[in-house]
Amino acid sequence: GVAEMPVTENETLQTLRRVFGYDAFRGEQEAVIEHVVAGGDAVVLMPTGGGKSLCYQIPSLVRPGTGIVISPLIALMQDQVDALRALGVRAGFVNSTQDFDERRTVEAEFLAGELDLLYLAPERLRLESTLDLLSRGKIALFAIDEAHCVSQWGHDFRPDYLALSLLGERWPDVPRVALTATATRATHQEITQRLNLPRARHFVAGFDRPNIQYRIVPKTDPKNQLLRFLREEHPGDAGIVYCLSRNSVEKTAEFLTRNGIEAVPYHAGLDAGTRAAHQARFLREDGLVVVATIAFGMGIDKPDVRFVAHLDLPKSVEGYYQETGRAGRDGLPSTAWMAYGLNDVVQQRKLIQSGEGDEAHRRRAQAHLDAMLALCETVQCRRAHLLAYFGQEADPAGCGNCDTCLAPPETWDGTVAAQKVLSTVVRLQRERGQKFGAGQIIDILLGRRTAKVIQFDHDQLSVFGVGQELTEGEWRGVVRQLLAQGLLAVEGEYGTLVLTETSASVLRREREVPLRKEPRKPAAARVSAGA
Ligand code: ADP
Ligand code: ZN
Repeated sequence: GVAEMPVTENETLQTLRRVFGYDAFRGEQEAVIEHVVAGGDAVVLMPTGGGKSLCYQIPSLVRPGTGIVISPLIALMQDQVDALRALGVRAGFVNSTQDFDERRTVEAEFLAGELDLLYLAPERLRLESTLDLLSRGKIALFAIDEAHCVSQWGHDFRPDYLALSLLGERWPDVPRVALTATATRATHQEITQRLNLPRARHFVAGFDRPNIQYRIVPKTDPKNQLLRFLREEHPGDAGIVYCLSRNSVEKTAEFLTRNGIEAVPYHAGLDAGTRAAHQARFLREDGLVVVATIAFGMGIDKPDVRFVAHLDLPKSVEGYYQETGRAGRDGLPSTAWMAYGLNDVVQQRKLIQSGEGDEAHRRRAQAHLDAMLALCETVQCRRAHLLAYFGQEADPAGCGNCDTCLAPPETWDGTVAAQKVLSTVVRLQRERGQKFGAGQIIDILLGRRTAKVIQFDHDQLSVFGVGQELTEGEWRGVVRQLLAQGLLAVEGEYGTLVLTETSASVLRREREVPLRKEPRKPAAARVSAGA
């Protein structure tokens, strides 16, 4: 920091105005900043876009010495530092992208007390040379950004983050502030424990984003559903469309472009130049759509993103919240729209089964997915559900700005339908170790004599043709909801459907199965393909 004089309340406000050009603090910012300026440790839980950076940048400017910022987002460091330098803040970074001379220059600046902020990648703190460098300079504070990386939930940087607990031992008098946009109680506790912050004050911002309208629709014809959503509700608006795979990113971007919507792809398989160009266009232009994998968005600061659309299911509620949170940072009405279907559930469950990691990791991934599915299938207010997940309360009367509040979903008694699906699964399970997915089960229920049905004599089963009362789409909805409710499970690489421990209670008629009603004629069918 610049000042060596006594700190006054006014000084933080002056810094906000003079250096950053803002009039007033937002939410918890002022409280955090005062606490850290006074030398206290802090754990800050604030949603994406909430203004976490100022919580350590201003104390770094106000306190004597350099603020050390630990961030895993190496790709953003140059931009962050450039932006700060443009404001006259003396900032620098040290990471693996630099050559020896560049690093030397920054280190010399730090030692000479000429830096307000120094950004470091977490792995650098495991090098004795870095710790030695830090101990030869004056440190204003440690800011640990993206602090949820310390949590059990399989993050790439976890070992580096766990090592950060030594900062408190080595520099007991330097305040530490840990920041994250993840607010589950478990993560919060882990951050406090593993980063060794027992005396920290906790600042938990409200996670509600009232200007974002949450909507989750059954997936029937995703590209055309998306097109209709964009044409009818967001013509000419900037937004992000998330897809799971690079291939679907490319195809969706092409499809939108062919249909008169300016869209560019973004995923890790594109070369760095193309990625940078597309990102720059998104930030600069008014109405560009970026179709992206989750590689896109971390640290992107564009206030007027009017919608975030998901064509595939996020892996967790945390991911969904972070990604949708990129919409509407300017506070104006925005939409978080998602199309979600049976294949999403089967695909994600398969991914978890065949994925890397030990059994404990799989169980955690499964629990995260289950929480996401519960949000998709809820008949209650989406916002209330989302906030409850983050340990926060919402208006029990509903928010009035999500699909379930605007058009309360009807439920129906799906017990008999569930029994039909489950009995078919039982019959197929008995068969010579053959593996069948949802498609075969639905063909059997509808009484379709497909080649595969004939081949396995499934037209001889007692359940053959007993499901004519529902359409194929409705059956897919039933299977999807049974999966989401844990009454069915997916096994192996082919997505074989199997019973769970709770399935038996449905088959024994001990349990009712309320289901969400699916729209009978998907509205998206009215939009022609191609065009
Ligand atoms: P986070 O790190 O929590 O996602 P940032 O620190 O990047 O959020 O801040 C998000 C945006 O809000 C930035 O553009 C930032 O300049 C702006 N911002 C932060 N605090 C204020 C404030 N007090 N007044 C106006 N704008 C602010
Ligand atoms: Zn609601």
